Amino acid sequence: MNIVICVKYVPDATGDRHFESDNTVDRVGVDGLLSELDEYAVEQALQLKEKNEDSVVTALTVGPEDASEAIKKALQMGADKGVHVVDDAIAGSDYLATSQVLAAAITKIGEESEVDVVICGMASTDATGSVIPAMLAERLDLPQVTLGSVIESQGKEFRIKRDGDTSTEVIGATAPLVLSVTDQSGEARYPSFKGIMAAKKKPLETWSLSDIGVDAGQVGLDAAWTAVENTEERPPRTAGEVVTDEDGSGAKALVDFLASKKFI
Ligand SMILES: Cc1cc2nc3c(=O)[nH]c(=O)nc-3n(C[C@H](O)[C@H](O)[C@H](O)COP(=O)(O)OP(=O)(O)OC[C@H]3O[C@@H](n4cnc5c(N)ncnc54)[C@H](O)[C@@H]3O)c2cc1C
Repeated sequence: MNIVICVKYVPDATGDRHFESDNTVDRVGVDGLLSELDEYAVEQALQLKEKNEDSVVTALTVGPEDASEAIKKALQMGADKGVHVVDDAIAGSDYLATSQVLAAAITKIGEESEVDVVICGMASTDATGSVIPAMLAERLDLPQVTLGSVIESQGKEFRIKRDGDTSTEVIGATAPLVLSVTDQSGEARYPSFKGIMAAKKKPLETWSLSDIGVDAGQVGLDAAWTAVENTEERPPRTAGEVVTDEDGSGAKALVDFLASKKFI
């Protein structure tokens, strides 16, 4: 089975994050990592590989130079090879352009052998659009099942459970297809020491836009269909209010506080 996982390199949410003057996210001057939600996609791809001998799992990312770190993590977890699409023209790309680049790369990956399953996370942890998997399915003309919480498969037949607020549904689908998986789909494995060492020898290809046949004029900030007009950093959190109950008035003080905030 030929499996592609889309892994996004995102700014580390525990570090300082900033916007650039053109309202794009600063991705170069900050620490980054594989989007935690994409680790679930890696896990599902690896479980699929374990069930289907001779499977090949390719980790694909579109992003700046450092985005190869996201691929390296996927390789350490057990993916077989990586593809990094990097090109200055991609900076500032919107969802449409990002999905176009990813789809073109997946098409190229499928030139040797048809891609059976494309697996994405439920959302990136930075832009959190949750739209790329659907856009990929449209561009690749494949069926999509998004936000799967349980993925079962037998050969190319899939049964995917999706959880809603009031009900769950089970969708049947046949590969080739695009899947996105939630953080309920199964704990992602940690890279083992053996995996970390093995990853150093796994192939990681770097492709430019011309390698995948995408016109540079169709991507990037200038080609975006939408514009981020304004961004503001959130004010830092202020210290909370502490109620000290020394004379039995604590309960009333709590109720007054909640009422003042209109919680009750
Ligand atoms: C006008 C505009 C300008 C923008 N400028 C920038 C910019 O300069 N730099 C920037 O990074 N973003 C920029 N963005 C946001 C960028 O378009 C999104 O980050 C990107 O399209 C992916 O969307 P998402 O992160 O919401 O992914 P989602 O739809 O939430 O992602 C779902 C899944 O798709 C896959 N996926 C998504 N993106 C990638 C990727 N790049 N590589 C591999 N897999 C992926 C992952 O599996 C992920 O879990 C801009 C957006 C707009 C509208």
